[in-house]
Amino acid sequence: MAKKQFKAESKRLLDLMIHSIYTHREIFLRELISNASDALDKLYYHSLQGGTTGIDRNEFIISIVPDAEQRTLTVTDNGIGMTKAELEDNLGTIAKSGSLAFKRDTEQPDDIDIIGQFGVGFYAAFMVADRVMVLSRAFGSDEAYQWESTGADGYTVTEAQKDTHGTVITLHIKDSTEDENYDEFLQPYRLKALVKRYSDYIRYPIQMPMPQSRLKDGCEGDKPEDYEQVTETQTLNSMVPLWRKNKNELTDEDYHNFYKEKFYDYTDPLRVIHSSTEGAATYNALMFVPAHAPQDFYSRDYEKGLQLYASGVLIMDKCADLLPDCFSFIKGLVDSQDLSLNISREMLQHDRQLKLIASRLEKKIKSELYSMQQNDRETYETFFKSFGMQLKYGVYAEFGKNKELLQDLLLFASSHDEHPTTLAEYLTRMKEEQTCIYYICGSDREKLARMPQAELVLDRGYEVLYLTEDVDEFCIRALNDYEGKTFKNVSDGDLGLETEEEKKQAEEQAEQHKDLLAAMTEALDGKVAAVRLSNRLKSHPVCLSSEGGLSLEMEKVLRAMPGEQAEQFKATRVLEINEHHAIWTTLQRLFDTDKEKLTTYTALLYDQALLIEGLPVEDPIAFSNALCALMTE
Ligand code: ADP
Repeated sequence: MAKKQFKAESKRLLDLMIHSIYTHREIFLRELISNASDALDKLYYHSLQGGTTGIDRNEFIISIVPDAEQRTLTVTDNGIGMTKAELEDNLGTIAKSGSLAFKRDTEQPDDIDIIGQFGVGFYAAFMVADRVMVLSRAFGSDEAYQWESTGADGYTVTEAQKDTHGTVITLHIKDSTEDENYDEFLQPYRLKALVKRYSDYIRYPIQMPMPQSRLKDGCEGDKPEDYEQVTETQTLNSMVPLWRKNKNELTDEDYHNFYKEKFYDYTDPLRVIHSSTEGAATYNALMFVPAHAPQDFYSRDYEKGLQLYASGVLIMDKCADLLPDCFSFIKGLVDSQDLSLNISREMLQHDRQLKLIASRLEKKIKSELYSMQQNDRETYETFFKSFGMQLKYGVYAEFGKNKELLQDLLLFASSHDEHPTTLAEYLTRMKEEQTCIYYICGSDREKLARMPQAELVLDRGYEVLYLTEDVDEFCIRALNDYEGKTFKNVSDGDLGLETEEEKKQAEEQAEQHKDLLAAMTEALDGKVAAVRLSNRLKSHPVCLSSEGGLSLEMEKVLRAMPGEQAEQFKATRVLEINEHHAIWTTLQRLFDTDKEKLTTYTALLYDQALLIEGLPVEDPIAFSNALCALMTE
């Protein structure tokens, strides 16, 4: 019979398995057991959905049988089984879930090391076996098939006999060599230890015939001959799911292993949230804050949600209603006795109990993140690098509904020092007379620190938040204020920093030079709403500021968005001139002597202001020509 070939990426994975380093091999058993357990879950779920009778969960079982003589190890389940097509699809291609995480990391140099760290699925069998047979009969079908493969050279699927639904996986264990011992995977005590270590929480009994010595009838037990060797089937696992265990029985390693295996991550989570409550809502929740965002996190493909169990039975893999969007990065599960097992998805959405649980979880997640921020700042900053953007989106999404929930979790870069700050921390550093929280927007810290607009505010010793992310300003605007202090963009027309006296003086100056300023405004031909003498510039000659609701930075972000409307977003610009700068004297002179040059210089100053702002010059050629003309004068 012709062998079928594995898909290319499966081959690659298979190859890694076959040549994997020794210490990782033992995880193959965990992978097979976890598949068997999933197959049992699926059968149970199927029976609930379809009202199938004759399924008794108490009969669900996973059994492991080593045969040292034949060098085989079989793992059997009476779960949902696989059809012929499923055997081909599922075992001929690498599994979707595991492979996603895998593919991302094959770009990294240490890809061999990944194997030991997260679920690689069924192919792990090839780490210890030179031949693998999968005999399966799908539930509801009377046909059985056998899939068989010796590794990279492909696989066959043939018709076979099997009396009941479920799957039998037989591994032919590799021969031991001088350096490598595979015999251990045929030894009951070693296998038992592996089950205890990796699969203890599996909710179905994992059974294995264990050799026992038993005292013969009528014997005292003081001589070796008084004992006989028998085989007794034992249940190896305690069957209590991890989340039902007591926190103090569990170590970080238990949690981390569980997380990595279940959620296909290869790094430990940053934080584990394990909570149990009774009363109005009774549930156990086990949640994790991942250390990094999955590749598709900021794409539309990403599906948020927690696994939902009703009294220990998985009823939904990603229950989105349990997590608000702002916390969509959380991975984990909830197990509640309050939910009915055969509740439909539609009903679930309206379930009051589920809503209650969701709101409790939301508070819990917030308080855990907050406590991480307060007590483990370094980790929190790592977390924020990956997921801070999600929190900031969360502030302005849904009309600011989650403002209160999120505002204390935010971090912003600031002029204070190189560490990002919380808003509460900013408040503690505010000067006595300071009334607003100042911010400036732009692409990076270093540039922002040198922006002319920030000079005045910084000179007064006021801290300025550096909003370097696109989402930042939208977030700040949605917040509107924090603890009664409003936010103020240092590029805003009116900073409100002057005394009455200074204001009066400025007005007089403006009046005195109104013709020159009007001429400059006219020279810019509608590009700016006005040219003004600046009250914020100290050493720089010019800057741009904006009037009205839309800032220059928001204009940039909005215009970068796809769609025809993008063009319509334009901030109302004001060109500010520093009257203490030598250029101002020049401009005054030109106003009296050379109007044409005044026009050129005004255009040049405007272009400079655009460049400082990080905005494109409208006519780069004209700009360059004017500059050269000036240089060769
Ligand atoms: P994963 O479990 O991550 O999806 P695997 O490579 O371990 O990836 O398995 C691939 C697929 O094969 C599973 O998703 C499942 O559909 C099927 N499968 C594996 N083992 C069994 C089993 N014992 N019973 C039924 N289906 C199984």
